[in-house]
Amino acid sequence: MKREQLIASFEKKKRFFSHIEGHQKKPLYQPKTLDVPEGLYEKCSACKNTFRQRDVIKNQLVCPHCHNHFRARAIDRLSMTVDAHTFVEKGFGYITLNPLFQEGYDQKVQNYKKQTNLDEAYIYGYAEIHSQPCVIGVMDSYFMMGSMGSVVGEKVTKSIEYALYKKLPLIIFTASGGARMQEGIYSLMQMAKTSSALRKMDRQGLLFISVLTHPTTGGVTASFAMLGDIILAEPKALVGFAGPRVIEQTIRQSLPEGFQTAEFILEKGMIDKVVHRHEMKKTLYRLLKMHRRREN
Ligand SMILES: [Zn+2]
Repeated sequence: MKREQLIASFEKKKRFFSHIEGHQKKPLYQPKTLDVPEGLYEKCSACKNTFRQRDVIKNQLVCPHCHNHFRARAIDRLSMTVDAHTFVEKGFGYITLNPLFQEGYDQKVQNYKKQTNLDEAYIYGYAEIHSQPCVIGVMDSYFMMGSMGSVVGEKVTKSIEYALYKKLPLIIFTASGGARMQEGIYSLMQMAKTSSALRKMDRQGLLFISVLTHPTTGGVTASFAMLGDIILAEPKALVGFAGPRVIEQTIRQSLPEGFQTAEFILEKGMIDKVVHRHEMKKTLYRLLKMHRRREN
């Protein structure tokens, strides 16, 4: 609980500063790892060992024993990926509507807003990775499973357009359960919208790196997540469209071992590389540097 409060208070501060400072690079990011009080424990779902949460956070939310990657919140992801004090959040003020008048949907969104202190399941902004400028977007699977509703789709599109406007490379970390059921056709429409925005980026010859994290499924996999010029994934991340049980029931066959994991789809040629979280920042830096445009 303490850690959540810490994240929440930090989010509030970050939001406050971002509003005032606009485009300027100002200290927004404070690595918070060392402030976490001791005595809180985290259990690894893979090896069942228990570790002090402090150690897990220090280890970038990777199990110190078996290297299982824990789910990371958007804010944690940013703090471990971008240079300190470089992230400037963009795209505020979107309000999630309830276009199909689904019962309880408004309340659900409100609850998630309170729990995560995010407006929606996606944040983006300007950032630097080892001094390489880029636009970075991160999905948060703690907000309604990172599902893509109208606001997430719009913000993803805006982040693409922002990268286009700034002529910067774009990196998106995906983590999503797919399109948001409660918004029906409106969330499905986001797939076409984000994809066509990426087409514009492609025409401009700008780099888009998609990083798939656990889990990336449904409409997100079927749209921008798989449209990266370079597609990376975290070890053992679940990546697929429909869940394995649905597929098994449909085709009435048992599925091969490791089906829909990052390693499996790498073998099948769907992605370019599986990157350990400890190596992610370095890998992204190399890719950005390699593709950096020469200024005339
Ligand atoms: Zn473990």
